[in-house]
Amino acid sequence: MTPLDYDKARIWHPYAPLGPNAPRVRMADHAEGLEIVLDDGRRLIDAVSSWWCAAHGHRHPAIVEAMRRQAEKLPHVMFGGFTHEPAVELAQRLAEIAPPGLDRVFFADSGSISVEVAAKMAVQYQNALGRPGRNRLVALKGGYHGDTSLCMALSDPDGMHVLFRGIMTRHFFAEKPRIPTDGTWNPADAESLRRVVEEHRDEIAAVICEPIFQAANAMNFYHPEYLREMRRICDENGILLIFDEIAAGLYRTGPLWAHARSGITPDIMTVGKALTGGHITLAATLASARVADVIAHGKPSAFMHGPTYMANPIACAAACASLDLFASSDYTAKTAAIEKAFKKDLAGVERLENVADVRVLGAAAVIELKGMPSREAIDNVIDAHSVWLRPFANFAYAMPPLVSDVGAVKRICDALADLASREPAPVEDDGGFHE
Ligand code: PMP
Repeated sequence: MTPLDYDKARIWHPYAPLGPNAPRVRMADHAEGLEIVLDDGRRLIDAVSSWWCAAHGHRHPAIVEAMRRQAEKLPHVMFGGFTHEPAVELAQRLAEIAPPGLDRVFFADSGSISVEVAAKMAVQYQNALGRPGRNRLVALKGGYHGDTSLCMALSDPDGMHVLFRGIMTRHFFAEKPRIPTDGTWNPADAESLRRVVEEHRDEIAAVICEPIFQAANAMNFYHPEYLREMRRICDENGILLIFDEIAAGLYRTGPLWAHARSGITPDIMTVGKALTGGHITLAATLASARVADVIAHGKPSAFMHGPTYMANPIACAAACASLDLFASSDYTAKTAAIEKAFKKDLAGVERLENVADVRVLGAAAVIELKGMPSREAIDNVIDAHSVWLRPFANFAYAMPPLVSDVGAVKRICDALADLASREPAPVEDDGGFHE
C-alpha cells in the first residue's frame, strides 16, 4: 500500500468520508512562504492560508527558530502548579494589543476550546452573581464557533451540524445580520436580537458572535452598527458580550480586530488561528477584570477548566514570535493592498452565469455561487493554476497569507474566476457538506 492508499483507507480528513468515497488528498512535503510544496515537487499557492492561519506565510524562519529554541529548553510542562516565560510574555503581549481592559487570559489548545472556555466563563460569572438560571447563550444564525458540542450548539442551527441536534444544549438564535459593512444601517436589522434577549433575559448569560465577518458558515460581512446595538442590548439586560475573533481577528478584515470598526469593546474575546502564524495550535480567551473578579468571588472561586496542554510553551513561543512579526510592519496596509487587488482582479466575475454574489473585505474574497462545480472540476482548477483552494457549500473564496503580493493575488483570482465559470454539479444526495 502506498502512503496515499493507506491514508485513504484509514485516516479521516476534515469533513470528508473515509474509504472508497474519500476525496483526493495531496501529499504535502514541505511549505515555504506563500506555497505548499508537494512530494512530486509541485508548488501550490495557499489561497486559504491553511484555514486562515498562515498570516505571515508558511514556515516563517523567525517563528520556526523561536519554536526550536523553546523545544530545546522546555517543550512542555503542566500549567497546573507551574508557569513559564513564554506564557507570561504572551499574556503581556496580548494584553497590550487587546481591546482596552481585556487583560485576563486563559490559554486554550484550539479555537473551539477557547470558545467553550468563553461560554463557561459567562455562565460562571452569572452564577457568581447569584443568577444560576442564566446558563444559555444567544448566538447569530449564519455563525460558526467550532466543532465541539458546545461550539456546535452556538453555530448556525440549520447549518452543517444539524445531525447532532440531539446532543446539543439548546441556546437562542437571532437572525443573521444582513446589512453589509458598506450599506446603510437600519435599526430593524437588530430587532430580532433585541426580541430574543428581552424574551429570555433571565436565562441568558451572554451573547456571542463573530464580529463583522461570519466566516465558516455564511461568509457574511455585516455592518459595525450591529455590534454597537448588540453592546447596548447586552448592557441593558445585564448580559455579557463575547466576540469570537478567531477567524476575523489579527488583521484579516483590515484592522487588528474586526470589531474595531464598531468602537465598542466586548467583555470576553477569543483569538486563535493566526495567533501562531499557522505554525502550531494555540488559542486564548481574554476577559475583563470585572469578569475575572466576579468569578474569583464566587463559589467555586476557581475557574473550572484546565486542559492537559494548556499554555504549551512551544506554542506560546511561536505566538510571541508571530506577534513580533505583526508588530514589525503595517499589516493593515498589507491587508488593504490585498483588498484593492482582489477588487481589481475579480472585477466582472459577478456577471458570470453561475455567480450569485461577489464580496470582498480586507484579505477575504468570497464568490457565492449558484451551484458548486464537481469535486473533479475543483481539482482540475487547483492543478491548472497551481493554486490551493478549499471551497465549501456554495462559496468559492480566498483568504491568503497577509503577506501575499499582487502577483499571487492575481493568480488566486484567476483560479477563482475559472472555478466560478465551471458548470455547477448536481447537488450531492448524501446531504454532504460540499468539501
Ligand atoms: N471560531 C471561529 C470563528 C472559527 O472560524 C473557528 C475555526 N474555523 C473556530 C472558532 C474553531 O477553531 P478550531 O478549529 O481551532 O477549533
